Amino acid sequence: MRAEMPIRADNYWDGSKRPRPAAQPFDSDAAVDVAVIGAGYTGLSTAYHLKAAEPSLDVAVLEGETVGFGASGRNAGFVMTLFGASLGLMKALHGAERVRAAHAYMERSIAALEEMIGEHKLDCDFERGGFLKVATTPRYAARIRDEIETLEALGIHGHRWLESDELNGRVRSPTYVGACLEPGCGLINPRKWVDALGRLAADAGARIYEHSRVARVERVGGKFRLTSNGATLTAEKVVFASNGYTHLIPGMRSKQLPAYVFIVVTEPLSVQQIASIGWAGREGIEDGRNFMHFYRLTPDNRLLMGGGPGFVPFGGRMTHDAHPAAWEHLEDFVGTTFPGLRGVKIAHRWGGAFSVTADSTPQIGTMHDGAAVYSVGCTGHGVAMTHMNGRILRDLVLGRTSELTELWFVNRRAMPLPPEPIRSIGAKAVTAAMALDDWWCDRGGTTS
Ligand SMILES: Cc1cc2nc3c(=O)[nH]c(=O)nc-3n(C[C@H](O)[C@H](O)[C@H](O)COP(=O)(O)OP(=O)(O)OC[C@H]3O[C@@H](n4cnc5c(N)ncnc54)[C@H](O)[C@@H]3O)c2cc1C
Repeated sequence: MRAEMPIRADNYWDGSKRPRPAAQPFDSDAAVDVAVIGAGYTGLSTAYHLKAAEPSLDVAVLEGETVGFGASGRNAGFVMTLFGASLGLMKALHGAERVRAAHAYMERSIAALEEMIGEHKLDCDFERGGFLKVATTPRYAARIRDEIETLEALGIHGHRWLESDELNGRVRSPTYVGACLEPGCGLINPRKWVDALGRLAADAGARIYEHSRVARVERVGGKFRLTSNGATLTAEKVVFASNGYTHLIPGMRSKQLPAYVFIVVTEPLSVQQIASIGWAGREGIEDGRNFMHFYRLTPDNRLLMGGGPGFVPFGGRMTHDAHPAAWEHLEDFVGTTFPGLRGVKIAHRWGGAFSVTADSTPQIGTMHDGAAVYSVGCTGHGVAMTHMNGRILRDLVLGRTSELTELWFVNRRAMPLPPEPIRSIGAKAVTAAMALDDWWCDRGGTTS
């Protein structure tokens, strides 16, 4: 390990926070129509859309830390169409028709995000530069080309294979063999986006409480009783928007598990450093690994590099924001991918948890005859989807049947996760198989 490697996480996006009055903690008994647990994209979008649809509803959002504390304030800001873990797995598990419907939902989510930004004039540094999935060996190239063929066969158009010459005309790396270009995707400043959703929800009249971890949710006499800071919030309906932390709420343990992923961000790159790479289109880039690397330019032209080794913590412990070995790997990977940037100073390092279900597929569900709703399992691809999921959760809370509530991943039959230690043993087996597959593909293969 590098001697100077810090052990504290320091999230680059926190620099985009705007000063605002602190939200009060929830500390005295109250009653509301709807209680939302978690102030990330899902919870805030649900609260906003509920208030927009039914202004008379009393909606309270309880956040254990501060707005955007979870994945919503720490992600890489890729606004993409990937639904669930991977196209191949989703097609194998759910079939062609459902993959088509999921893709259409994701495209609609991106369009709706752009529309909301325009309608409310939100400053979120949103840019639609497209998405490149790069192949770094012929084996990855074969796999990515297969994916393009699968998408075409499903009637999902717009993905295009770029040979290395054309790719290097966009972004130069000696490691690139080719890439799939998906022009409709974009990038956002995740912190500005979650803060914007928070402002929209608060302006619409939702009450937002910070430092208000919900310790317990009980069903008493047809209502919910949420306990936080020793006070009780009574609610007719409850929304679990707690994502990768959901397993910590009693009664919700089997719904999902958290998986950790890490990010580093460089100092701003000089004009010469950027010129050595090209990248005028500012595309978001991912490689073809299972433990993929994902990277982008930030609005102030730093390189954000994330992914690589990640892990599922034993017992779902949420204390892994710092991971010096993962950061060291990412720092080295900057130089491997862009040799001209070898040795560039890393200014920020952090990590966070995303939510995974037993079949790596997003899941929106209801409990208690529809009085409780939840959303889990965005599998590291929730930026585009979660704000749209808020509209589904709104309809479920309001008891409305809509085309959104008819989507196949809403109230789908889902496998519960087993308890520990089986859960961790299973996760270890799956991640070991994924790592072995990456090792094999990293070893090359031929283009024929
Ligand atoms: C490092 C990283 C990079 C990522 N990069 C991307 C990307 O580039 N593109 C993409 O599409 N997706 C990405 N993701 C995934 C994406 O960020 C998430 O899918 C999305 O932010 C989930 O939003 P959410 O509102 O559902 O959950 P979160 O943002 O995690 O919010 C849940 C909130 O609930 C709160 N909470 C939990 N339990 C309680 C409780 N008991 N009481 C009160 N509050 C509680 C938490 O404190 C948290 O703030 C990434 C995730 C990580 C971790």
